[in-house]
Amino acid sequence: MHEMTIATSLLEEVLALVRQHKARRVREIEVELGVMRLVVPESLETAFAVLSEGTVAEGARLKLTETPLRAVCNQCQKEYSARVDDFRCPACGQADVRITGGNDIIIKAVALDVAESGSCG
Ligand SMILES: [Zn+2]
Repeated sequence: MHEMTIATSLLEEVLALVRQHKARRVREIEVELGVMRLVVPESLETAFAVLSEGTVAEGARLKLTETPLRAVCNQCQKEYSARVDDFRCPACGQADVRITGGNDIIIKAVALDVAESGSCG
């Protein structure tokens, strides 16, 4: 279950932002999931919920969007959206391609509740 590993690094990134902004609470995390990573959204949500327990990110909503696979053909330079099970260039039929999208897990946005100024001494 590699969702656990992904959830761990997501949580670390979010908690770093929390410290940076001195936030009290994490409300929502928007994450782009590259299709190549084969993440099961439900598993990621569960893993994140378990890991964030007891942290300021507990109860945060995960907004997951899937990024389609993008590829550029090394032979004819055509850019196209590829399929996970078939990368071949639709123009020339070569499988000599560079993946340019759909391979990353990116935090797009995080909604934080920031402590009101003056509340801390
Ligand atoms: Zn091509």
